[in-house]
Amino acid sequence: MDPSARDFDSASRTGTDVRIGHGYDLHRLEALAPKGVGRPLIVGGVGVPHDRGPVAHSDGDVLLHALTDALLGALALPDIGQLFPDDADENDGRDSADFVRAALSLVHERGWAPVNVDCTVVLERPRLGPLKVEIRNRIAELLGMDVADVNLKGKTHEGLDAVGEGRAIEAHVVALLGRRSGGKS
Ligand SMILES: [Zn+2]
Repeated sequence: MDPSARDFDSASRTGTDVRIGHGYDLHRLEALAPKGVGRPLIVGGVGVPHDRGPVAHSDGDVLLHALTDALLGALALPDIGQLFPDDADENDGRDSADFVRAALSLVHERGWAPVNVDCTVVLERPRLGPLKVEIRNRIAELLGMDVADVNLKGKTHEGLDAVGEGRAIEAHVVALLGRRSGGKS
């Protein structure tokens, strides 16, 4: 589970007190089942009313997937696809909050904790504005952080390419980690 422990140890010897990670994800959006193959659209753990949804093995939460990879990436750990293979039965339809919790435990085990996270979701429609506060609160709750340290920006793709045509959703997350001052979680 932890092939990169040696890399991490050498990085930690530089004495830096912060680590930064970036996560990116994209899912195709299709008509909802049974008409199509899309799962109900969930972004940041919050249901988004829409006639299309992600094609995915798990619940397809693009934002929580990018967040998971940002947390793992900050410590040069294996990525979400390596930790949670998309051909494993136990990940079929799985709540993506499980991936975030697992990544957070790895971060905590190594003596780090998120300082702030900055998220961007690119979705042509519907607009995420009305759900922004709920999504930020959900992520803050998952990470055990203050909502003031969790940012979310909603963007469109200006009608261009697959995302702009409403056929895909994208997310980017940057996460800053700091050393934990207290003991273990
Ligand atoms: Zn994904």
